[in-house]
Amino acid sequence: MAKLEGKVAVITGGTTGMGLATAKLFVKEGADMANLTNRIALVTGASRGIGRAAARSLAQDGARVLVHYSRGREEAESLVSEIRRAGGYAEPVAADLAAEDGAHVLAEKVRKIVDGRLDILVANAGISKSVPIEALSVEDFDRLFAVNVRAPYFLVQQLLPVLGDGSNVIFVSSLVARSAAGTIAAYAATKGAIDTLVKHFAAALGPRGIRVNAVAPGVVDTEMSSFAHTESGRQLTMSMQALKRVATPDDIGGVFPFLASEAARWITGHIIAVDGGSKL
Ligand code: NAP
Repeated sequence: MAKLEGKVAVITGGTTGMGLATAKLFVKEGADMANLTNRIALVTGASRGIGRAAARSLAQDGARVLVHYSRGREEAESLVSEIRRAGGYAEPVAADLAAEDGAHVLAEKVRKIVDGRLDILVANAGISKSVPIEALSVEDFDRLFAVNVRAPYFLVQQLLPVLGDGSNVIFVSSLVARSAAGTIAAYAATKGAIDTLVKHFAAALGPRGIRVNAVAPGVVDTEMSSFAHTESGRQLTMSMQALKRVATPDDIGGVFPFLASEAARWITGHIIAVDGGSKL
């Protein structure tokens, strides 16, 4: 994951304590930081966008990856083939997370595949709806909360029997959970709910050795954020960000192996902004 070969690092106070530990990590991680060999990961919504990048990145660091999809079967299967061609392990797994029992159906399939233990759950699948406050229907509101909140909640609940000491739950939140942008109030509220779940789940599951965090991207160039392809969308994005380009899914994907790795073993209950310095 951390390709540090050829980089020069200066660590002040590097002879004792945390400084020394950091220096040792830098040396070790030049070779291999997030060694996830033999860890098994489920990534929801891995057919495209951020989930696809996360699944690929976890596989590159050695994880065995269950590539979840709903409608994007071909895309999911192409990622599975890509991972297998590179010598990794991947399996496609389908479920519609808008369905009332979607998370239960997916969890049951996963429990059958994983043989008693799931190390990494990335609850990434999500939908968005950009409309003025007056234009959102009750049906759209319910669907947003079904896919973005209900499904992750029950996925964790239903996978608890196979999540154990040292395992990880990583949700996907958003910049808009903490800052207003665009006409996506209900979508933003689903991400606010995710941030709340992170805190409560991390507190409840910490005693069982399970860490719970969220990655919170800003604008990322995916099907969901197609507005970023327009000139006005690009300008709006640039006006919010310290770093002056639109993020690609790969800019986000590498953070998942880090959060799942030993290097992040003391991080839980946090929402990690991965947004190029948005709305600072
Ligand atoms: P995307 O390209 O639209 O991909 C969405 C993924 O979610 C797809 O793999 C899709 O699977 C899956 N999905 C959608 N509805 C589903 C359903 N009913 N059941 C099961 N799976 C379903 O979106 P993205 O931008 O990568 O978003 C991924 C996550 O990042 C979401 O949680 C989103 O809220 C969050 N996020 C995105 C941005 C951004 O700017 N793009 C910013 C902040 C946070 P199928 O295609 O197989 O149906």
